[in-house]
Amino acid sequence: MYRTHTNGELRLEHIGQEVTLSGWVQKVRDKGFMVWVDLRDRYGITQLIFDEERTPESVMESAKKLGREFVIQVKGKVIERQSKNPKIPTGDIEILVEELTLLNDAKTPPFTIEDETDGGDELRMKYRYLDIRRNPVKNNLIFRHKVALEVRKYLSDEGFIEVETPYLIKSTPEGARDFVVPSRMNEGQFYALPQSPQTFKQLLMVGGMDKYFQIVKCFRDEDLRADRQPEFTQIDCEMAFVEQEDILNAFEGLTKHLLKEIKGVEVADFPRMTYGEAMKKYGNDKPDIRFGMEFGELNKVAQHKDFGIFNNAELVVGIAVPQGNKFTRKEIDKLTDWVKRPQVGAKGMVYVRCNEDGTYKSSVDKFYDQEDLAKWAEATNAQKGDLICVLSGDVNETRTQLSALRMELAERLGLRKSNEFAPLWVVDFPLLEWDEETQRYHAMHHPFTSPKVEDIAKLDTNPAEVKANAYDLVLNGNEIGGGSIRIYDKATQALMFDHLGFTPEEAKAQFGFLMNAFEFGAPPHGGIAFGLDRLVAILGGQETIRDFIAFPKNNAGRDVMIDAPSPIDEEQLKELNLNITVK
Ligand code: ASP
Repeated sequence: MYRTHTNGELRLEHIGQEVTLSGWVQKVRDKGFMVWVDLRDRYGITQLIFDEERTPESVMESAKKLGREFVIQVKGKVIERQSKNPKIPTGDIEILVEELTLLNDAKTPPFTIEDETDGGDELRMKYRYLDIRRNPVKNNLIFRHKVALEVRKYLSDEGFIEVETPYLIKSTPEGARDFVVPSRMNEGQFYALPQSPQTFKQLLMVGGMDKYFQIVKCFRDEDLRADRQPEFTQIDCEMAFVEQEDILNAFEGLTKHLLKEIKGVEVADFPRMTYGEAMKKYGNDKPDIRFGMEFGELNKVAQHKDFGIFNNAELVVGIAVPQGNKFTRKEIDKLTDWVKRPQVGAKGMVYVRCNEDGTYKSSVDKFYDQEDLAKWAEATNAQKGDLICVLSGDVNETRTQLSALRMELAERLGLRKSNEFAPLWVVDFPLLEWDEETQRYHAMHHPFTSPKVEDIAKLDTNPAEVKANAYDLVLNGNEIGGGSIRIYDKATQALMFDHLGFTPEEAKAQFGFLMNAFEFGAPPHGGIAFGLDRLVAILGGQETIRDFIAFPKNNAGRDVMIDAPSPIDEEQLKELNLNITVK
Protein backbone atom coordinates (compact mmCIF):
# COMPACT_ATOMS: atom_id res chain seq x y z
CA MET A 1 0.00 0.00 0.00
CA TYR A 2 1.50 3.30 -1.06
CA ARG A 3 -0.22 5.34 1.61
CA THR A 4 -2.48 5.12 4.61
CA HIS A 5 -3.27 8.83 4.55
CA THR A 6 -2.93 11.79 2.23
CA ASN A 7 -0.63 14.69 2.96
CA GLY A 8 -3.51 16.93 3.93
CA GLU A 9 -5.07 14.66 6.47
CA LEU A 10 -3.11 14.23 9.66
CA ARG A 11 -3.93 16.23 12.81
CA LEU A 12 -3.13 16.19 16.54
CA GLU A 13 -5.65 13.37 17.02
CA HIS A 14 -3.43 11.08 14.94
CA ILE A 15 -0.44 11.43 17.25
CA GLY A 16 1.20 8.13 18.00
CA GLN A 17 -0.11 6.44 14.86
CA GLU A 18 2.17 4.62 12.45
CA VAL A 19 1.43 5.96 8.97
CA THR A 20 2.61 5.58 5.39
CA LEU A 21 2.65 8.62 3.14
CA SER A 22 3.61 9.19 -0.49
CA GLY A 23 4.17 12.31 -2.47
CA TRP A 24 6.55 14.84 -3.97
CA VAL A 25 9.39 16.55 -2.17
CA GLN A 26 8.49 20.21 -2.02
CA LYS A 27 11.44 21.32 0.05
CA VAL A 28 14.38 19.87 2.02
CA ARG A 29 15.93 21.66 4.98
CA ASP A 30 19.14 19.99 6.06
CA LYS A 31 20.53 21.11 9.44
CA GLY A 32 23.06 18.27 9.58
CA PHE A 33 21.73 16.42 12.59
CA MET A 34 18.17 16.95 11.47
CA VAL A 35 16.50 17.04 8.09
CA TRP A 36 12.99 18.35 7.42
CA VAL A 37 11.15 17.55 4.24
CA ASP A 38 7.88 19.04 3.06
CA LEU A 39 5.97 16.25 1.38
CA ARG A 40 3.25 17.35 -1.07
CA ASP A 41 0.32 15.80 -2.87
CA ARG A 42 -2.98 17.10 -4.15
CA TYR A 43 -4.37 17.26 -0.64
CA GLY A 44 -1.68 19.29 1.07
CA ILE A 45 1.72 19.27 2.65
CA THR A 46 2.96 17.23 5.59
CA GLN A 47 6.28 17.86 7.28
CA LEU A 48 8.62 14.90 7.66
CA ILE A 49 11.39 14.93 10.18
CA PHE A 50 14.58 12.84 10.05
CA ASP A 51 16.51 13.04 13.30
CA GLU A 52 20.04 11.65 13.78
CA GLU A 53 19.14 10.35 17.21
CA ARG A 54 15.88 8.69 16.29
CA THR A 55 16.12 7.85 12.58
CA PRO A 56 18.16 4.87 11.25
CA GLU A 57 21.46 6.06 9.75
CA SER A 58 20.81 4.76 6.22
CA VAL A 59 17.43 6.50 6.14
CA MET A 60 19.08 9.70 7.34
CA GLU A 61 21.61 9.46 4.55
CA SER A 62 18.98 8.88 1.88
CA ALA A 63 17.03 11.87 3.18
CA LYS A 64 20.02 14.10 2.64
CA LYS A 65 20.13 13.09 -1.00
CA LEU A 66 16.53 14.03 -1.75
CA GLY A 67 15.94 16.72 -4.33
CA ARG A 68 12.97 18.85 -5.28
CA GLU A 69 10.08 16.91 -6.85
CA PHE A 70 11.53 13.47 -6.03
CA VAL A 71 8.69 11.01 -5.49
CA ILE A 72 8.99 9.18 -2.21
CA GLN A 73 7.18 6.95 0.18
CA VAL A 74 7.79 7.13 3.92
CA LYS A 75 6.73 5.13 6.94
CA GLY A 76 6.84 6.70 10.35
CA LYS A 77 5.09 7.91 13.44
CA VAL A 78 2.89 10.99 13.80
CA ILE A 79 4.38 13.25 16.49
CA GLU A 80 3.51 16.70 17.79
CA ARG A 81 5.49 19.49 16.22
CA GLN A 82 7.76 21.64 18.36
CA SER A 83 7.18 24.80 16.39
CA LYS A 84 3.73 24.65 14.90
CA ASN A 85 2.73 26.16 11.58
CA PRO A 86 -0.76 27.66 11.82
CA LYS A 87 -0.73 28.40 8.09
CA ILE A 88 -1.32 24.81 7.02
CA PRO A 89 -3.97 22.36 8.27
CA THR A 90 -1.33 19.73 9.11
CA GLY A 91 0.85 22.30 10.87
CA ASP A 92 0.48 20.81 14.34
CA ILE A 93 2.13 17.51 13.54
CA GLU A 94 5.08 15.99 11.73
CA ILE A 95 6.14 12.48 10.80
CA LEU A 96 9.20 11.00 12.46
CA VAL A 97 10.42 8.90 9.56
CA GLU A 98 11.52 5.30 10.04
CA GLU A 99 11.58 4.08 6.42
CA LEU A 100 12.12 5.95 3.20
CA THR A 101 11.58 4.56 -0.31
CA LEU A 102 12.60 6.52 -3.35
CA LEU A 103 9.82 5.88 -5.89
CA ASN A 104 11.28 8.13 -8.55
CA ASP A 105 13.85 10.86 -8.79
CA ALA A 106 13.27 14.09 -10.73
CA LYS A 107 15.18 16.58 -12.78
CA THR A 108 15.24 20.04 -11.30
CA PRO A 109 11.97 21.61 -12.45
CA PRO A 110 12.33 24.53 -14.88
CA PHE A 111 10.35 26.79 -12.55
CA THR A 112 9.51 26.73 -8.87
CA ILE A 113 6.46 24.71 -7.91
CA GLU A 114 5.13 27.35 -5.54
CA ASP A 115 1.98 29.45 -5.43
CA GLU A 116 4.03 32.36 -6.75
CA THR A 117 6.26 30.90 -9.42
CA ASP A 118 9.16 32.32 -11.36
CA GLY A 119 7.99 30.54 -14.54
CA GLY A 120 6.74 32.63 -17.46
CA ASP A 121 3.57 31.69 -19.33
CA GLU A 122 5.16 29.84 -22.21
CA LEU A 123 7.42 27.80 -19.92
CA ARG A 124 4.55 26.88 -17.63
CA MET A 125 2.53 25.76 -20.65
CA LYS A 126 5.39 23.66 -21.96
CA TYR A 127 5.59 21.87 -18.63
CA ARG A 128 1.90 22.14 -17.80
CA TYR A 129 2.02 18.89 -15.80
CA LEU A 130 4.38 20.64 -13.40
CA ASP A 131 2.25 23.75 -13.40
CA ILE A 132 -0.73 21.61 -12.39
CA ARG A 133 1.17 20.62 -9.24
CA ARG A 134 0.94 24.26 -8.14
CA ASN A 135 -1.98 25.19 -5.89
CA PRO A 136 -3.47 27.96 -8.05
CA VAL A 137 -3.80 25.73 -11.11
CA LYS A 138 -4.75 22.63 -9.16
CA ASN A 139 -7.41 24.52 -7.23
CA ASN A 140 -8.85 25.97 -10.42
CA LEU A 141 -9.25 22.50 -11.89
CA ILE A 142 -10.94 21.26 -8.74
CA PHE A 143 -13.16 24.34 -8.80
CA ARG A 144 -14.12 23.64 -12.40
CA HIS A 145 -15.04 20.09 -11.45
CA LYS A 146 -17.35 21.39 -8.72
CA VAL A 147 -19.08 23.79 -11.10
CA ALA A 148 -19.57 21.08 -13.73
CA LEU A 149 -20.92 18.71 -11.09
CA GLU A 150 -23.43 21.30 -9.83
CA VAL A 151 -24.54 21.92 -13.42
CA ARG A 152 -25.15 18.23 -13.92
CA LYS A 153 -26.97 17.88 -10.62
CA TYR A 154 -29.22 20.87 -11.20
CA LEU A 155 -30.12 20.04 -14.76
CA SER A 156 -30.73 16.35 -14.00
CA ASP A 157 -33.01 17.33 -11.13
CA GLU A 158 -34.90 19.55 -13.55
CA GLY A 159 -35.44 16.60 -15.87
CA PHE A 160 -32.71 17.26 -18.44
CA ILE A 161 -30.99 14.25 -19.99
CA GLU A 162 -27.30 14.42 -20.95
CA VAL A 163 -26.91 13.06 -24.47
CA GLU A 164 -23.61 12.86 -26.34
CA THR A 165 -23.53 14.06 -29.93
CA PRO A 166 -20.86 13.23 -32.50
CA TYR A 167 -17.63 15.13 -33.07
CA LEU A 168 -17.11 13.97 -36.64
CA ILE A 169 -19.87 15.84 -38.40
CA LYS A 170 -20.66 18.32 -41.13
CA SER A 171 -20.23 22.05 -40.86
CA THR A 172 -22.29 23.87 -38.19
CA PRO A 173 -22.68 27.56 -38.85
CA GLU A 174 -21.72 29.38 -35.66
CA GLY A 175 -19.83 32.06 -37.49
CA ALA A 176 -16.30 30.68 -37.36
CA ARG A 177 -14.30 28.46 -39.68
CA ASP A 178 -14.51 24.72 -39.22
CA PHE A 179 -11.68 22.46 -38.24
CA VAL A 180 -11.79 19.63 -40.73
CA VAL A 181 -10.75 16.00 -40.52
CA PRO A 182 -9.96 14.01 -43.68
CA SER A 183 -11.71 10.68 -44.03
CA ARG A 184 -9.49 7.75 -45.00
CA MET A 185 -12.42 5.54 -45.84
CA ASN A 186 -14.15 8.16 -47.95
CA GLU A 187 -11.46 9.42 -50.20
CA GLY A 188 -11.33 13.15 -50.78
CA GLN A 189 -14.02 13.80 -48.19
CA PHE A 190 -13.86 15.56 -44.88
CA TYR A 191 -15.66 15.72 -41.61
CA ALA A 192 -15.95 19.01 -39.78
CA LEU A 193 -15.58 19.21 -36.02
CA PRO A 194 -18.67 20.76 -34.45
CA GLN A 195 -18.60 24.47 -33.72
CA SER A 196 -21.45 23.47 -31.42
CA PRO A 197 -23.93 20.57 -31.32
CA GLN A 198 -26.59 22.99 -32.63
CA THR A 199 -28.20 20.88 -35.34
CA PHE A 200 -27.95 17.67 -33.33
CA LYS A 201 -29.68 19.11 -30.33
CA GLN A 202 -32.47 20.31 -32.58
CA LEU A 203 -32.72 16.81 -34.03
CA LEU A 204 -32.93 15.45 -30.47
CA MET A 205 -35.99 17.65 -30.01
CA VAL A 206 -37.49 16.20 -33.19
CA GLY A 207 -36.59 12.85 -31.62
CA GLY A 208 -38.72 13.70 -28.61
CA MET A 209 -35.96 13.99 -25.97
CA ASP A 210 -37.72 17.14 -24.75
CA LYS A 211 -35.01 18.40 -22.37
CA TYR A 212 -31.40 17.87 -23.41
CA PHE A 213 -28.10 19.06 -22.07
CA GLN A 214 -24.48 18.19 -22.62
CA ILE A 215 -21.18 19.43 -21.27
CA VAL A 216 -19.41 19.33 -24.57
CA LYS A 217 -16.31 20.40 -26.46
CA CYS A 218 -16.81 22.80 -29.37
CA PHE A 219 -14.23 23.64 -32.00
CA ARG A 220 -13.92 26.94 -33.82
CA ASP A 221 -11.11 27.91 -36.10
CA GLU A 222 -11.02 31.63 -35.60
CA ASP A 223 -8.45 34.26 -34.93
CA LEU A 224 -7.65 33.87 -31.29
CA ARG A 225 -8.40 37.21 -29.81
CA ALA A 226 -7.14 37.51 -26.28
CA ASP A 227 -8.45 34.75 -24.11
CA ARG A 228 -10.17 32.52 -26.63
CA GLN A 229 -9.42 28.89 -27.21
CA PRO A 230 -9.89 26.95 -30.47
CA GLU A 231 -11.51 24.19 -28.46
CA PHE A 232 -13.66 25.14 -25.54
CA THR A 233 -16.48 23.69 -23.48
CA GLN A 234 -20.15 24.52 -23.54
CA ILE A 235 -23.03 23.63 -21.29
CA ASP A 236 -25.31 23.03 -24.24
CA CYS A 237 -29.06 22.79 -23.76
CA GLU A 238 -32.28 22.47 -25.72
CA MET A 239 -35.94 22.21 -24.72
CA ALA A 240 -39.10 21.40 -26.65
CA PHE A 241 -42.53 23.02 -26.32
CA VAL A 242 -41.06 26.17 -24.87
CA GLU A 243 -41.20 29.88 -25.43
CA GLN A 244 -38.39 32.30 -24.74
CA GLU A 245 -39.75 32.92 -21.24
CA ASP A 246 -39.47 29.23 -20.33
CA ILE A 247 -35.84 29.10 -21.34
CA LEU A 248 -34.91 32.31 -19.55
CA ASN A 249 -36.54 31.00 -16.38
CA ALA A 250 -34.90 27.59 -16.57
CA PHE A 251 -31.41 29.00 -17.05
CA GLU A 252 -31.80 31.85 -14.65
CA GLY A 253 -32.55 29.05 -12.20
CA LEU A 254 -29.34 27.26 -13.11
CA THR A 255 -27.27 30.44 -12.79
CA LYS A 256 -28.80 31.31 -9.42
CA HIS A 257 -28.15 27.77 -8.24
CA LEU A 258 -24.50 28.00 -9.23
CA LEU A 259 -24.02 31.40 -7.60
CA LYS A 260 -25.56 30.07 -4.42
CA GLU A 261 -23.84 26.69 -4.28
CA ILE A 262 -20.44 27.81 -5.50
CA LYS A 263 -20.19 31.36 -4.18
CA GLY A 264 -22.81 31.47 -1.44
CA VAL A 265 -24.32 34.49 -3.19
CA GLU A 266 -28.06 34.97 -3.56
CA VAL A 267 -29.03 37.25 -6.41
CA ALA A 268 -32.38 38.83 -7.18
CA ASP A 269 -34.28 38.10 -10.39
CA PHE A 270 -32.12 39.04 -13.33
CA PRO A 271 -32.86 42.36 -14.97
CA ARG A 272 -33.67 42.28 -18.67
CA MET A 273 -32.56 44.74 -21.22
CA THR A 274 -33.15 44.84 -24.94
CA TYR A 275 -30.19 44.81 -27.25
CA GLY A 276 -31.15 48.33 -28.36
CA GLU A 277 -31.18 49.60 -24.80
CA ALA A 278 -27.86 47.95 -23.97
CA MET A 279 -26.21 49.59 -26.96
CA LYS A 280 -27.71 52.97 -26.12
CA LYS A 281 -26.91 52.90 -22.41
CA TYR A 282 -23.60 51.04 -22.42
CA GLY A 283 -22.44 50.90 -26.03
CA ASN A 284 -22.12 47.19 -25.57
CA ASP A 285 -24.33 44.12 -25.88
CA LYS A 286 -22.74 42.62 -22.79
CA PRO A 287 -22.76 45.49 -20.34
CA ASP A 288 -21.08 45.27 -16.97
CA ILE A 289 -23.77 46.67 -14.67
CA ARG A 290 -21.84 46.32 -11.43
CA PHE A 291 -21.24 50.06 -11.61
CA GLY A 292 -23.17 52.97 -13.11
CA MET A 293 -21.55 55.28 -15.62
CA GLU A 294 -24.46 54.97 -18.02
CA PHE A 295 -24.18 56.84 -21.28
CA GLY A 296 -25.84 60.23 -21.52
CA GLU A 297 -26.62 61.31 -25.08
CA LEU A 298 -25.80 64.97 -25.54
CA ASN A 299 -26.88 65.75 -29.10
CA LYS A 300 -29.73 67.97 -27.92
CA VAL A 301 -27.69 69.92 -25.42
CA ALA A 302 -24.41 70.16 -27.33
CA GLN A 303 -25.26 70.69 -30.96
CA HIS A 304 -26.46 74.28 -30.85
CA LYS A 305 -23.19 76.18 -30.52
CA ASP A 306 -20.25 76.81 -32.85
CA PHE A 307 -18.37 73.65 -31.96
CA GLY A 308 -18.13 72.09 -35.41
CA ILE A 309 -16.89 68.72 -34.25
CA PHE A 310 -20.06 68.11 -32.25
CA ASN A 311 -22.35 69.74 -34.80
CA ASN A 312 -21.13 67.42 -37.52
CA ALA A 313 -21.31 64.27 -35.38
CA GLU A 314 -24.07 61.71 -35.63
CA LEU A 315 -23.78 61.14 -31.89
CA VAL A 316 -22.38 63.15 -28.99
CA VAL A 317 -22.30 61.01 -25.87
CA GLY A 318 -20.72 61.16 -22.43
CA ILE A 319 -20.23 59.34 -19.16
CA ALA A 320 -19.74 60.70 -15.67
CA VAL A 321 -16.68 59.24 -13.99
CA PRO A 322 -17.31 59.07 -10.26
CA GLN A 323 -14.84 61.28 -8.38
CA GLY A 324 -13.07 61.87 -11.68
CA ASN A 325 -12.47 65.54 -10.94
CA LYS A 326 -9.52 64.46 -8.86
CA PHE A 327 -7.69 63.43 -12.05
CA THR A 328 -4.83 65.81 -12.82
CA ARG A 329 -4.60 67.54 -16.16
CA LYS A 330 -1.84 65.13 -17.04
CA GLU A 331 -3.98 62.12 -16.19
CA ILE A 332 -6.79 63.45 -18.35
CA ASP A 333 -4.35 64.01 -21.22
CA LYS A 334 -3.27 60.40 -20.81
CA LEU A 335 -6.89 59.26 -20.97
CA THR A 336 -7.28 61.25 -24.16
CA ASP A 337 -4.23 59.52 -25.59
CA TRP A 338 -5.72 56.21 -24.47
CA VAL A 339 -8.95 56.72 -26.43
CA LYS A 340 -6.93 57.87 -29.44
CA ARG A 341 -4.92 54.64 -29.59
CA PRO A 342 -5.70 52.71 -32.77
CA GLN A 343 -7.24 49.92 -30.67
CA VAL A 344 -9.94 52.34 -29.51
CA GLY A 345 -9.87 54.78 -32.40
CA ALA A 346 -11.50 57.95 -31.05
CA LYS A 347 -10.37 61.21 -32.62
CA GLY A 348 -10.29 63.05 -29.32
CA MET A 349 -12.07 63.53 -26.02
CA VAL A 350 -13.87 66.49 -24.51
CA TYR A 351 -14.08 66.66 -20.74
CA VAL A 352 -15.95 68.60 -18.09
CA ARG A 353 -14.79 68.90 -14.50
CA CYS A 354 -17.69 69.05 -12.05
CA ASN A 355 -16.33 71.16 -9.22
CA GLU A 356 -17.39 70.78 -5.60
CA ASP A 357 -18.81 74.32 -5.64
CA GLY A 358 -21.25 73.42 -8.42
CA THR A 359 -19.33 75.15 -11.22
CA TYR A 360 -17.96 73.44 -14.31
CA LYS A 361 -14.65 73.67 -16.07
CA SER A 362 -14.45 72.09 -19.50
CA SER A 363 -12.03 71.67 -22.34
CA VAL A 364 -14.58 73.47 -24.56
CA ASP A 365 -15.31 76.50 -22.37
CA LYS A 366 -14.90 78.62 -25.48
CA PHE A 367 -18.14 77.24 -26.87
CA TYR A 368 -20.25 76.33 -23.88
CA ASP A 369 -21.32 78.29 -20.82
CA GLN A 370 -22.13 77.04 -17.32
CA GLU A 371 -25.79 76.60 -18.18
CA ASP A 372 -24.93 74.34 -21.14
CA LEU A 373 -22.55 72.29 -19.05
CA ALA A 374 -25.14 71.90 -16.31
CA LYS A 375 -27.35 70.25 -18.91
CA TRP A 376 -24.55 67.87 -19.85
CA ALA A 377 -24.17 67.00 -16.19
CA GLU A 378 -27.88 66.32 -15.95
CA ALA A 379 -27.86 64.10 -19.03
CA THR A 380 -24.92 62.05 -17.79
CA ASN A 381 -26.14 62.07 -14.19
CA ALA A 382 -22.85 63.65 -13.08
CA GLN A 383 -22.44 64.63 -9.44
CA LYS A 384 -20.17 67.23 -7.88
CA GLY A 385 -16.63 65.88 -7.96
CA ASP A 386 -17.18 63.83 -11.13
CA LEU A 387 -15.54 64.14 -14.50
CA ILE A 388 -17.62 63.97 -17.65
CA CYS A 389 -15.87 62.38 -20.63
CA VAL A 390 -17.46 63.03 -24.01
CA LEU A 391 -16.87 61.38 -27.37
CA SER A 392 -18.52 62.09 -30.70
CA GLY A 393 -18.79 60.73 -34.23
CA ASP A 394 -20.55 57.90 -36.04
CA VAL A 395 -23.15 56.25 -33.75
CA ASN A 396 -21.85 52.71 -33.63
CA GLU A 397 -18.17 53.59 -33.53
CA THR A 398 -18.61 56.22 -30.85
CA ARG A 399 -20.62 53.90 -28.65
CA THR A 400 -17.97 51.21 -28.95
CA GLN A 401 -15.23 53.69 -28.10
CA LEU A 402 -17.04 55.09 -25.09
CA SER A 403 -17.78 51.58 -23.91
CA ALA A 404 -14.07 50.79 -24.04
CA LEU A 405 -13.32 53.94 -22.05
CA ARG A 406 -16.04 53.11 -19.52
CA MET A 407 -14.59 49.64 -18.92
CA GLU A 408 -11.04 50.95 -18.72
CA LEU A 409 -11.97 53.60 -16.18
CA ALA A 410 -14.00 51.14 -14.12
CA GLU A 411 -11.00 48.83 -14.07
CA ARG A 412 -8.65 51.63 -13.02
CA LEU A 413 -11.05 52.84 -10.34
CA GLY A 414 -11.50 49.33 -8.94
CA LEU A 415 -15.23 49.26 -9.75
CA ARG A 416 -15.11 45.81 -11.32
CA LYS A 417 -15.16 43.86 -8.08
CA SER A 418 -14.65 40.17 -8.58
CA ASN A 419 -16.77 39.21 -5.57
CA GLU A 420 -19.80 41.07 -6.88
CA PHE A 421 -22.11 39.36 -9.36
CA ALA A 422 -24.43 41.27 -11.65
CA PRO A 423 -26.19 38.99 -14.14
CA LEU A 424 -28.66 40.23 -16.73
CA TRP A 425 -30.49 39.03 -19.80
CA VAL A 426 -30.02 40.90 -23.04
CA VAL A 427 -32.99 40.13 -25.32
CA ASP A 428 -34.41 41.09 -28.70
CA PHE A 429 -31.21 40.85 -30.69
CA PRO A 430 -31.38 41.74 -34.37
CA LEU A 431 -31.87 38.66 -36.55
CA LEU A 432 -29.34 39.73 -39.15
CA GLU A 433 -26.09 41.59 -39.22
CA TRP A 434 -24.65 43.32 -42.27
CA ASP A 435 -21.18 42.15 -43.20
CA GLU A 436 -19.12 44.79 -44.99
CA GLU A 437 -16.58 42.32 -46.26
CA THR A 438 -18.95 39.92 -48.02
CA GLN A 439 -21.55 42.65 -48.63
CA ARG A 440 -24.40 40.57 -47.36
CA TYR A 441 -26.39 39.75 -44.28
CA HIS A 442 -25.27 37.11 -41.80
CA ALA A 443 -27.31 35.53 -39.06
CA MET A 444 -26.37 37.39 -35.90
CA HIS A 445 -26.90 34.27 -33.79
CA HIS A 446 -27.21 31.40 -36.28
CA PRO A 447 -29.48 30.56 -39.22
CA PHE A 448 -31.85 28.45 -37.11
CA THR A 449 -32.92 31.35 -34.94
CA SER A 450 -36.54 32.34 -35.30
CA PRO A 451 -37.41 35.89 -36.24
CA LYS A 452 -40.07 37.57 -34.14
CA VAL A 453 -43.32 36.69 -35.87
CA GLU A 454 -44.44 40.31 -36.09
CA ASP A 455 -41.21 41.21 -37.91
CA ILE A 456 -41.21 38.49 -40.58
CA ALA A 457 -42.80 40.81 -43.14
CA LYS A 458 -39.86 43.19 -42.75
CA LEU A 459 -37.44 40.53 -43.95
CA ASP A 460 -37.98 41.75 -47.50
CA THR A 461 -38.32 45.46 -46.87
CA ASN A 462 -35.99 46.22 -43.96
CA PRO A 463 -33.98 43.16 -42.96
CA ALA A 464 -31.76 45.06 -40.51
CA GLU A 465 -34.80 45.89 -38.39
CA VAL A 466 -36.02 42.34 -37.95
CA LYS A 467 -35.66 41.20 -34.36
CA ALA A 468 -34.98 37.66 -33.29
CA ASN A 469 -36.17 35.55 -30.41
CA ALA A 470 -32.56 35.49 -29.28
CA TYR A 471 -31.07 36.22 -25.89
CA ASP A 472 -27.75 36.37 -24.10
CA LEU A 473 -26.97 35.88 -20.45
CA VAL A 474 -24.42 38.44 -19.36
CA LEU A 475 -22.44 38.28 -16.14
CA ASN A 476 -20.09 41.05 -15.06
CA GLY A 477 -19.53 42.30 -18.59
CA ASN A 478 -19.07 38.86 -20.12
CA GLU A 479 -21.43 36.95 -22.35
CA ILE A 480 -21.66 33.65 -20.55
CA GLY A 481 -24.54 32.21 -22.51
CA GLY A 482 -26.57 32.74 -25.61
CA GLY A 483 -29.42 31.05 -27.37
CA SER A 484 -32.65 31.41 -29.23
CA ILE A 485 -36.06 30.04 -30.04
CA ARG A 486 -35.67 28.09 -33.26
CA ILE A 487 -37.41 27.98 -36.53
CA TYR A 488 -39.23 24.62 -36.68
CA ASP A 489 -40.94 24.60 -40.02
CA LYS A 490 -39.38 23.97 -43.36
CA ALA A 491 -40.87 27.00 -45.09
CA THR A 492 -39.53 29.58 -42.63
CA GLN A 493 -36.17 27.83 -42.54
CA ALA A 494 -36.00 27.94 -46.34
CA LEU A 495 -36.93 31.64 -46.26
CA MET A 496 -34.14 32.27 -43.77
CA PHE A 497 -31.54 30.43 -45.86
CA ASP A 498 -32.67 32.43 -48.84
CA HIS A 499 -32.11 35.72 -46.99
CA LEU A 500 -28.70 34.54 -45.92
CA GLY A 501 -27.76 34.08 -49.56
CA PHE A 502 -27.92 30.29 -49.81
CA THR A 503 -29.35 28.91 -53.04
CA PRO A 504 -31.93 26.16 -52.39
CA GLU A 505 -29.34 23.64 -53.63
CA GLU A 506 -26.68 24.89 -51.22
CA ALA A 507 -29.13 24.90 -48.33
CA LYS A 508 -30.14 21.36 -49.20
CA ALA A 509 -26.56 20.13 -49.47
CA GLN A 510 -25.57 21.62 -46.15
CA PHE A 511 -28.70 21.38 -44.04
CA GLY A 512 -30.98 19.03 -45.94
CA PHE A 513 -31.01 16.63 -43.01
CA LEU A 514 -32.52 19.29 -40.74
CA MET A 515 -35.05 20.47 -43.30
CA ASN A 516 -36.09 16.84 -43.83
CA ALA A 517 -36.49 16.34 -40.10
CA PHE A 518 -38.77 19.36 -39.96
CA GLU A 519 -41.15 17.43 -42.24
CA PHE A 520 -41.64 14.69 -39.65
CA GLY A 521 -43.35 16.59 -36.88
CA ALA A 522 -40.80 18.94 -35.34
CA PRO A 523 -42.01 20.43 -32.05
CA PRO A 524 -41.54 24.12 -31.22
CA HIS A 525 -38.18 24.29 -29.47
CA GLY A 526 -35.39 26.52 -28.30
CA GLY A 527 -32.23 26.44 -26.29
CA ILE A 528 -29.12 28.05 -25.01
CA ALA A 529 -25.45 27.32 -24.52
CA PHE A 530 -23.21 28.59 -21.73
CA GLY A 531 -19.48 28.91 -22.13
CA LEU A 532 -18.28 26.74 -19.27
CA ASP A 533 -14.68 27.94 -19.31
CA ARG A 534 -15.69 31.59 -18.99
CA LEU A 535 -18.39 30.88 -16.43
CA VAL A 536 -15.93 29.01 -14.24
CA ALA A 537 -13.34 31.77 -14.56
CA ILE A 538 -15.82 34.47 -13.54
CA LEU A 539 -17.15 32.42 -10.64
CA GLY A 540 -13.55 31.88 -9.66
CA GLY A 541 -13.08 35.64 -9.61
CA GLN A 542 -10.72 35.68 -12.57
CA GLU A 543 -11.03 36.55 -16.19
CA THR A 544 -8.60 34.29 -18.02
CA ILE A 545 -10.15 31.06 -19.11
CA ARG A 546 -6.75 29.50 -19.74
CA ASP A 547 -6.15 29.22 -16.02
CA PHE A 548 -9.17 26.95 -15.72
CA ILE A 549 -8.28 24.60 -18.57
CA ALA A 550 -5.92 21.73 -17.82
CA PHE A 551 -4.13 21.81 -21.16
CA PRO A 552 -4.88 25.07 -22.97
CA LYS A 553 -3.51 26.28 -26.27
CA ASN A 554 -1.53 29.46 -26.73
CA ASN A 555 -2.56 32.51 -28.76
CA ALA A 556 -1.33 30.89 -31.94
CA GLY A 557 -3.56 27.87 -31.29
CA ARG A 558 -0.55 25.74 -30.40
CA ASP A 559 -0.21 23.21 -27.67
CA VAL A 560 3.43 23.88 -26.85
CA MET A 561 3.67 20.89 -24.57
CA ILE A 562 2.79 18.17 -27.07
CA ASP A 563 3.87 20.39 -29.97
CA ALA A 564 0.67 20.41 -31.97
CA PRO A 565 -0.30 21.06 -34.66
CA SER A 566 2.55 19.31 -36.46
CA PRO A 567 3.18 17.80 -39.89
CA ILE A 568 2.13 14.21 -40.46
CA ASP A 569 4.30 11.70 -42.26
CA GLU A 570 4.18 10.80 -45.96
CA GLU A 571 2.68 7.40 -45.27
CA GLN A 572 -0.28 8.88 -43.43
CA LEU A 573 -0.79 11.49 -46.13
CA LYS A 574 -0.82 8.79 -48.78
CA GLU A 575 -3.35 6.76 -46.86
CA LEU A 576 -5.56 9.80 -46.70
CA ASN A 577 -4.94 10.57 -50.34
CA LEU A 578 -3.79 14.06 -49.53
CA ASN A 579 -1.16 16.16 -51.23
CA ILE A 580 0.34 19.00 -49.26
CA THR A 581 1.77 22.03 -50.97
CA VAL A 582 3.25 24.39 -48.45
CA LYS A 583 4.07 27.74 -49.92
N1 ASP B 1 -25.33 26.87 -30.59
C1 ASP B 1 -25.38 28.18 -30.03
C2 ASP B 1 -23.96 28.68 -29.73
O1 ASP B 1 -23.04 27.90 -29.66
C3 ASP B 1 -26.16 28.26 -28.77
C4 ASP B 1 -27.60 28.05 -28.97
O2 ASP B 1 -28.22 28.70 -29.83
O3 ASP B 1 -28.17 27.23 -28.20
O4 ASP B 1 -23.77 29.85 -29.50
